[in-house]
Amino acid sequence: MKQFDYSSWALDTLLVHSMKLSHTSNNSGKPTVEPIYTSTTYLHLNAEMLDQSFSGRLPTGEPAYVYARQGNPNARTLEEVLAQAERGVGAVVFGSGMAAIHAAFLASGLAPGSKILAAQDLYGPTIGLLRTVFVPVGVEVVLYDLCSPKVTEIVRAEQPDVIYVETISNPLAKVIDLDIISAVAQEVGAISIVDSTFTTPYLVRPIEHGFDLVVHSATKYLGGHGDSTAGVVISARNSMTEQLRTYATMLGAMLSSFDSFLITRGLKTLALRMERQCNNALEVARFLQEHTAVERVHYPGLPAHTQHSLATRLLRKQRYGGLLAFELREQTREAAYRFMDKLRLCLPATTLGDVYTEVSYPPMSSHRNLTASERQKFGITDGCIRLSVGIEDVNDIIHDLDQALLS
Ligand SMILES: *Cc1c(COP(=O)(O)O)cnc(C)c1O
Repeated sequence: MKQFDYSSWALDTLLVHSMKLSHTSNNSGKPTVEPIYTSTTYLHLNAEMLDQSFSGRLPTGEPAYVYARQGNPNARTLEEVLAQAERGVGAVVFGSGMAAIHAAFLASGLAPGSKILAAQDLYGPTIGLLRTVFVPVGVEVVLYDLCSPKVTEIVRAEQPDVIYVETISNPLAKVIDLDIISAVAQEVGAISIVDSTFTTPYLVRPIEHGFDLVVHSATKYLGGHGDSTAGVVISARNSMTEQLRTYATMLGAMLSSFDSFLITRGLKTLALRMERQCNNALEVARFLQEHTAVERVHYPGLPAHTQHSLATRLLRKQRYGGLLAFELREQTREAAYRFMDKLRLCLPATTLGDVYTEVSYPPMSSHRNLTASERQKFGITDGCIRLSVGIEDVNDIIHDLDQALLS
């Protein structure tokens, strides 16, 4: 079968036409929307074909299925579009972002005696995963501020086997310099992994900046509708894709066909949603910056943000994401609760990246396991609020925030 070269398509087009990527040789009567394959097992023409299908491919090169834990057609469609969207060679989808991160650590070769260097302000459960699963078997975990101008010296001094970062940090929206990190990772021979959940391929494609593995919680922007839990690892190398697939199968961490279907459907509007969310977030950030009840706003789209110029260089289309944080002038938990309880439109929810605006209070959610002084060290005050800006009319969002701020 002759493969069409989809790489000339812009991301927006690619995401809408994901079904084309999984075309088989027989397209006659094929539905435009892929059916949801609920079967746990698959039949083949004869024993010879069944035997070949265990390898995952037919002699024609088309994917073959035998048993659902090894993959299903809906997951495969999603994997192909995400691999193309991130300019990787392959992708493997998982039942959650955490399962994807776990498999990425395994595929990077983390083993007894190896060292992982990670950003200190990582998503809490990722640090939890390292501490509960990898540290007890002898993996050394070292955490640093990897936004520091001394990052190259830090990596050279530590000589890690794996480097793990997030494109934009939670909740203060610090931006990481992907080019510097990947260059020094290559220099010391470390595998580089980045969690690009907050940016999505709409804003940056870390493989183009030299990263080995890109992970996402697809539960967030990729799905975008708050109705499915999923994760993905996109790889810059075939050998790592094969390892990832082995881990997904062995750990039983694969994504179900229904959730694969929902994420594939969500992806069709990713570009539209991101465009609106980034525009809304910038307007909301500008509004909050002028508000008398607000002390500070953390958003890379504001010229006052420390990494505004880095963000402008790194992120596509002069857009800066849908997430921001701000500090209430009254830096107390009471003031934060009062603000949250007065909201009528924005949802007080711990997740992010959905079509609706969501507000979370880091001292209660993502950073609840830290002491007050640890939070202080990371710059997260008692008045810190995180906003994941949705696709609503921006005036309605601003109006809701305004009435809740004026107590
Ligand atoms: C939510 C999230 C995860 C974990 O993903 P789940 O789908 O909840 O398992 C990992 N990294 C980041 C940055 C996240 O926001």
